[in-house]
Amino acid sequence: MPYQSPLETRIARRTTQAISDFEMLEDGDRVLVGLSGGKDSWALMQILDVLRRRAKINFSLVAANVDAGFEGYDHELITRTCDERGWECVVRHTTINETMENLLDVDDTPCSLCGRLRRGVLYKMAGEIGATKIALGHHADDCIETLLLNLFFEGNLKAMPAKLTSDNGRHVVIRPLVYVLESEARAYAKECGLPIVPCSCPACGDLSLQRQRVKRLLFDLEREHPGVKNSMLSALKNVTGSHLLDVRLLPKPQGSRLEAPGVEPARVDEP
Ligand code: SF4
Repeated sequence: MPYQSPLETRIARRTTQAISDFEMLEDGDRVLVGLSGGKDSWALMQILDVLRRRAKINFSLVAANVDAGFEGYDHELITRTCDERGWECVVRHTTINETMENLLDVDDTPCSLCGRLRRGVLYKMAGEIGATKIALGHHADDCIETLLLNLFFEGNLKAMPAKLTSDNGRHVVIRPLVYVLESEARAYAKECGLPIVPCSCPACGDLSLQRQRVKRLLFDLEREHPGVKNSMLSALKNVTGSHLLDVRLLPKPQGSRLEAPGVEPARVDEP
């Protein structure tokens, strides 16, 4: 079955590469796909379905939509679209909106708490459905932004794991779009006629000041030097640990002596 466009071919190639590099899928997997109705999650659902039809292994998909409880959220448009495309979809209605109202201060940016609460619901749904993997729609831009946020503001050098086992060891989270750029995911969702459903939350699009700054920085850099983001993505796959300053990454010393070879230890004359 041919791919429907050059864009789909590119996204399929990048997604297949990520799935293979990180051994994300196995024969018999049942994959719960976090489907918020945003462009990234639609692009993920679509490309996984395309790959599933062509794959040599058998795996199944079930879209999982977490309704955070914000008024006006059109979850029915999501289920209708899934029905039309033959995608199994489960919706879970929650009161995440109220929980956030109780836990957050006025100046807090809610998205990270919201993300953690949604993740908890997805874990629960995965257990109930018998899913073996949970797929999330984070893409290469999310990875690069997280890398810079950690570098600039948190004092550590890490991005996002492409594959991660939850703390209790019960769930495996995968991010098959880690090699796909945000612009590609956006264009793909549009090309496939998938309806973008706003989350209807008052904070929608209200990113932290730090994330906004990093996004703007990357946007400006990419405009001045096209290919910067791809170069950063390549850098994440090409790390020279010994050229960083983390001694945990250095090769273990062979012996216990600290003297450099050929240097005589200092002599102390007898009185
Ligand atoms: S914009 Fe609102 S609904 Fe979306 S992740 Fe942030 S807090 Fe949650």
